[in-house]
Amino acid sequence: SPVLVWFRRDLRVTDQPTFLAAGQNTRALALFVLDQRLLAPAGAPRQWFLYGCLRDLDESLDGRLLVVEGDPVEVVPRVAREIGADSVHIAADFGPYGQARDRAVERVLTEQDRELVRTGSPYAVAPGRVRSADGGRYRVFTPFRRAWAEHGWRAPADTDGGYLDWIDPGTVKVEATPVPDDVTVTAELPEPGEAAARKRWESFVHDHLLDYADGRDRPDQPGTSRMSVYLKYGCVHVRTLLADLAAKRSAGAQSFRSELAWRDFYADVLDQRPDSARRNYDRSYDVLKTGSGPEADRLFTAWKEGRTGFPVVDAGMRQLLAEGWMHNRVRMITASFLVKDLHLPWWWGAKHFMRSLVDGDLASNQHGWQWVAGSGTDAAPFFRVFNPVLQGERFDPNGDYVRTYVPELADVTGQAVHKPWALPDGPPAGYPAPVVDHKRERAEALDRYEAVREAR
Ligand code: FAD
Repeated sequence: SPVLVWFRRDLRVTDQPTFLAAGQNTRALALFVLDQRLLAPAGAPRQWFLYGCLRDLDESLDGRLLVVEGDPVEVVPRVAREIGADSVHIAADFGPYGQARDRAVERVLTEQDRELVRTGSPYAVAPGRVRSADGGRYRVFTPFRRAWAEHGWRAPADTDGGYLDWIDPGTVKVEATPVPDDVTVTAELPEPGEAAARKRWESFVHDHLLDYADGRDRPDQPGTSRMSVYLKYGCVHVRTLLADLAAKRSAGAQSFRSELAWRDFYADVLDQRPDSARRNYDRSYDVLKTGSGPEADRLFTAWKEGRTGFPVVDAGMRQLLAEGWMHNRVRMITASFLVKDLHLPWWWGAKHFMRSLVDGDLASNQHGWQWVAGSGTDAAPFFRVFNPVLQGERFDPNGDYVRTYVPELADVTGQAVHKPWALPDGPPAGYPAPVVDHKRERAEALDRYEAVREAR
């Protein structure tokens, strides 16, 4: 009997373990469910990118992708019943919502005597698999990375679009939903899909991998891979990247592997503590005093719009709006600014990031934020407060990054762009004065942190 292949965060046909599990040449229906619970908080750029990936996947399947809008708990069993499938094949999901959804789908399928078969996951090593000698799970990155590398991962699966015998969705009595093509975005986004992912990866390996260990910290240069958006939707699987890196011994390759380990680490941590998506991982931070009310709202708006008067912060926030992506160094700077200079709750910032980032990923985002805020696992100590001017001068030494995204400062040459208030003629017209005094707010942040420590 035929099977149902339910795509979620694995929008590709190469390296697809779910296809292997279904068995070569098996009659199969390819399904994607447009789930408003996931789409609503995604923001237009991510929706636009997702829809592009779905069109690309449909092409790779010769037009045989069935897209249905609705609640997967209702849709998946209904489609499975319609085609008389014995089994539904998926790659396991480890997010809190995805796990609950899959369990609910599985309950209905079981009642119908059908099986939900989980093969693989979006990670090199699925959450829960990396364990210490006594079977415990890791809360600190470095030992996790060591055990992760020792654990190892599978070689890429040898599949393509013709691996299964795809059923024509036109012959199935289920109403298809056209993939929306009316999402308008002002941001300049990467090309969606599997071929685009591979092209991007190859050009990164060719041009920048060797220098990645140093290059990755420079937002003014194109030194990072920009693979996060493709990994988010599984246009490429991380094990394909790791297989390509395996033969390379350069510091750049080592460093890149380590960054990929962070992605697996945060997925593991979120799996250990699903509550950490919304709340402090370290609950002692629950007493940290944070802002609220009209003044907090005003500062939050200035931050979101990139009008704080701190050039590197503003450049980052505007890059986010312009590209649906922000350089990692600047994610840390802008996050630190929100938490430690504006004293706003990290989850305000995290929510804005999730809505604006095309690569918005619950595990990496919430734990990236908590790392900066000090409340996370393995976090940066709270007393380390980024100075936005020094960070700018160090990582954007000529000011090119700022000038790219903040047109009001386009005529300021060199490093002086990081301190527009100190220019001989004063700050250029239209660029805001700093919304806070960094030195004062730094002291305030340390006082608030001290209060957290005392309350422990
Ligand atoms: P590269 O430098 O080329 O890194 C290669 C890959 O390694 C990335 O694609 C990513 O998959 C992984 N990686 C690198 N750094 C990290 C990290 N710190 N944590 C987890 N994985 C990492 N990443 C997301 O994918 N989605 C998010 O929503 C997200 N939110 C973040 C929020 C904050 C506050 C911070 C500090 C970091 C966040 N990151 C997030 C991690 C990191 O900033 C991005 O993965 C990276 O900037 C993506 O660009 P790239 O692909 O060019 O990175």
